[in-house]
Amino acid sequence: MTPVLEAARFDRDGLIPAVVQDVLDGTVLMVAWMNREALQRTLERGETWFWSRSRQELWHKGATSGHLQKVRDLRYDCDSDVLLVTVEQQGDIACHLGERSCFHRDEFGSYSLPPADTLSQVFRVIEERKAHPSPDSYTSRLLEKGSNAILKKLGEETAEVVMAAKDGERVAEEVADLWYHTLVLLAHANVDILDVYRVLQQRRR
Ligand code: AMP
Ligand code: ZN
Ligand code: ZN
Ligand code: ZN
Repeated sequence: MTPVLEAARFDRDGLIPAVVQDVLDGTVLMVAWMNREALQRTLERGETWFWSRSRQELWHKGATSGHLQKVRDLRYDCDSDVLLVTVEQQGDIACHLGERSCFHRDEFGSYSLPPADTLSQVFRVIEERKAHPSPDSYTSRLLEKGSNAILKKLGEETAEVVMAAKDGERVAEEVADLWYHTLVLLAHANVDILDVYRVLQQRRR
């Protein structure tokens, strides 16, 4: 028996909450309940199963929507009463409302994705500047100048990284500049950062 099955502390209804996280950028996708059977199936089959409290039945996530979740990591917290499941989310949609994450509303009820890793947070801001240009935003101005201006900056920043690495100074700052300008290029080219992450994850295997 997988140790987590021994360790997991199910509540008085036989349930344990499972936080589901995207393997690509760490986004919290959803929270749902598992009973022992759901956890067992999840472990055996490598896709998420939950217990639906409203329908009172086992639920294979994505069975009707196609938005299956392939399990890449599963663990339990310090006092074994919550599970964390890291998944490859099919279709990049986990919420039954068609959103990527169930947590797509902030405290004021405004629509936005929850914070993920730093690089994707910066990318989402760049996308926002692209969608709603503002004259005092460097990002908006660079995007509006277009491809040649972006590529020129990218070349300059690459050279600056090389110089910084040679001098052993300001390496973090110059790499940050290079990453930022690479993200601007991605936004300009309509390539999502998740697609880059997917390529990196595929190469990891
Ligand atoms: P699916 O499992 O994606 O095929 O969706 C089937 C049904 O499961 C939906 O109609 C919802 O009732 C429920 N469901 C799916 N995803 C979620 C979610 N993230 N949170 C809560 N309920 C969900
Ligand atoms: Zn706990
Ligand atoms: Zn949802
Ligand atoms: Zn620089």
